Amino acid sequence: MNAKKLRKHFPNASIKENEPLSKYTYTKTGGPADVLIFPKTKEEVQGLVKWLYEQNWPVTILGNASNLIVKDGGIRGAVIILTDMNQIVVKDNSIRVLTGAPLIEVSKRAYQSSLTGLEFACGIPGSIGGAVYMNAGAYGGEVREVIRKVTVLTRDGEMFERTNEEMEFSYRHSKLQETDEIALEVVFELTEGDPETIKEKMDELTYLRTSKQPLEYPSCGSVFKRPTGYFTGKLIQDAGLQGLKWGGAQVSTKHAGFIVNIDNATATDYIELIEHIKEVILDKDGVQLETEVKIIGEDHPAFIGANDTLIKKATSSFKAKLETIMPLTEEN
Ligand SMILES: Cc1cc2nc3c(=O)[nH]c(=O)nc-3n(C[C@H](O)[C@H](O)[C@H](O)COP(=O)(O)OP(=O)(O)OC[C@H]3O[C@@H](n4cnc5c(N)ncnc54)[C@H](O)[C@@H]3O)c2cc1C
Repeated sequence: MNAKKLRKHFPNASIKENEPLSKYTYTKTGGPADVLIFPKTKEEVQGLVKWLYEQNWPVTILGNASNLIVKDGGIRGAVIILTDMNQIVVKDNSIRVLTGAPLIEVSKRAYQSSLTGLEFACGIPGSIGGAVYMNAGAYGGEVREVIRKVTVLTRDGEMFERTNEEMEFSYRHSKLQETDEIALEVVFELTEGDPETIKEKMDELTYLRTSKQPLEYPSCGSVFKRPTGYFTGKLIQDAGLQGLKWGGAQVSTKHAGFIVNIDNATATDYIELIEHIKEVILDKDGVQLETEVKIIGEDHPAFIGANDTLIKKATSSFKAKLETIMPLTEEN
């Protein structure tokens, strides 16, 4: 991999080498990207992706990095962050947006244009691309309900449009998670609404969010997907795990589905705590939790096993707690 060659080929591109991704992730953790590139247009992304594909460079796409844990060893190859590609154009009832634009900003623009349908998204801190990839949603709404079409790019540089149906949206899922295509532009289809009613809804949801979520700390939002028939937060609370500290990470005392960075946490702290929670809930309730947050990158050798004592301590303190709820027998 040769960053010099990349700069020579794209002299106008904004490129940083060996850039710590903890500067960009919402958890404030994660190792460096070999190169981090900040394109501003669809065509620039297409040119980069095509060239990097021909060079055999691995390419990772980031939006606002609010649903990601980047491992402490960082990411090899090229990382393309789309946050500078953020144009928003409102025309009649539709909004055409480049996918680096913040979802919160698009929701605000809809309100300012008296368009209803994106109120639910007023506090989701992702980019439009991340929201499409994840089919982001909150308070009964999901982006799939208001997307008309998405312009996507294949990893070898072919650009084309997908209709809403072709995106195969479902709970926290879109087709992009299988195809690895990159979302470049989205057209939202909204309906005319009363600005006061829209504003009231957004204020109500903002109140709910700020009163229930630990927004005062870095985090990656809800760590786990909602398992059918259960509430993750309640499972974690009932297992006595709320407030558990793991290195610099902690299961939030305000919302048990969040893990917050309270004291210079590493990605390893996050990942080990996630694994511990999964193990405990599987043992206690027989429920296999699945992460909503995406974990990417490479481990850092210096951090592997750093928390072994913590693991042992937490496991034995959990067993002690569990015995008070449910006496341990040979079967459990
Ligand atoms: C405090 C807090 C509250 C949150 N609340 C909610 C909530 O209410 N509802 C909800 O759904 N989520 C919530 N989230 C999670 C997160 O904001 C969403 O999942 C969001 O959609 C992720 O967007 P992003 O741009 O940050 O994606 P990133 O974290 O940058 O990336 C997530 C994944 O999407 C991929 N990706 C990003 N952009 C593109 C693109 N253009 N094309 C293809 N792939 C792409 C990445 O490769 C990665 O795999 C919350 C997070 C935080 C920190």
